[in-house]
Amino acid sequence: MSSLPLEKRVAVVTGGSRGIGGAISRLLAEDGATVAVLGLPIDRERTETLRLHLNGSAPRLHFYEGDVGDFGECRRAVEGIVAEHGRIDYLVNNAGITRDHTVRKMTVDEWQAVLQVNLSGPFFMIKAVLDTMVAQQFGRIVNISSVVGQGGNFGQANYAAAKAGLIGLTKTVALEVAKNRITVNAVAPGFIDTEMTKAMPSEAIEMAISQTPKRRLGQPEEVAHLVRFLIDDNAGYITGAVYNVNGGWYM
Ligand code: NAP
Repeated sequence: MSSLPLEKRVAVVTGGSRGIGGAISRLLAEDGATVAVLGLPIDRERTETLRLHLNGSAPRLHFYEGDVGDFGECRRAVEGIVAEHGRIDYLVNNAGITRDHTVRKMTVDEWQAVLQVNLSGPFFMIKAVLDTMVAQQFGRIVNISSVVGQGGNFGQANYAAAKAGLIGLTKTVALEVAKNRITVNAVAPGFIDTEMTKAMPSEAIEMAISQTPKRRLGQPEEVAHLVRFLIDDNAGYITGAVYNVNGGWYM
C-alpha cells in the first residue's frame, strides 16, 4: 500500500479558487498537501485572495491557468504541474457552470456549454492525469456531481444530464483503473451556499431550503470534508461510489 504523508502529496482542484473548490483547496493546503488550482484567467486573482486567508499554508497553493473545456489546455496545465511538483496524487474535478432554461427555451449553445465544462472537462482532466497516476500506482479522483444529476431539476436539463453523465464516467474509470491503485468517486452535493446558488432566484432558494430535511443550505466546507475523507490513503477500498452531501434532499 502506498502511504505518504500529505506534505508529499500534490492535488489538482479545478475551479479551486472560490466556492466549493475554494473550500477544498484551502482544506487540503491547510492539511499539508501542495495544491494546484486550475482555473480561468480571472481565478489567478481569486487564488491570491484565497492565499491571504491561508497564513502558514499559503506557499502550498499554486495557480495554473486552463479552461477545463479545452483538452489542450488541460494537458498543458497538467504537464506544467508535473514538471514543477513531480507528481499528481489527487484530482478534484470541481469546475462547473450553469446555463438554466427549460428545454423549450434552452439554446443549443447553452446545452453544449454546460456539457463541455461539466462533463467533457472532467473527462479531459482525467485523461490528462491518468498516465501520471498509473506510473505512480496511486491516485485519487473525486468528481463533483450534483443532487440534480440524481433527481433532475426544473430548468436544468443540460446541468442534470452532465452531472448524471459524470456519475457514469466515475464508475467506468473506477473499473478501468482499480488495478492501478487509483480510486474514482463522485460527490453529489445538494444546495450549497456559493455564488452558483446565489445566482438562483430567491424563491427557488427558499423552495430548496423548505424541501431539504436539514432546512438550510450546505456550506462549502461540508463538501470539502467529504472530499478530504475520500482522498485519504485509508480510503483505498472505496471506489466507484457516489456520496451524497445534501441535507437529506435526495436519499
Ligand atoms: P462556483 O462558485 O460558481 O465556482 C465554480 C468554479 O468553477 C469557479 O472557480 C469557476 O471559475 C470555475 N470554472 C467555471 N468554468 C470553468 C472552466 N471552463 N475552466 C476552469 N474553471 C472553470 O460554483 P460552486 O457552487 O462552488 O460549484 C462547484 C462545483 O460543485 C460545480 O461543479 C457545481 O456544479 C457543483 N455543485 C454545486 C452545488 C451548489 O449548490 N453550489 C450543488 C451541487 C453541485 P470562475 O471563477 O472564473 O467563474
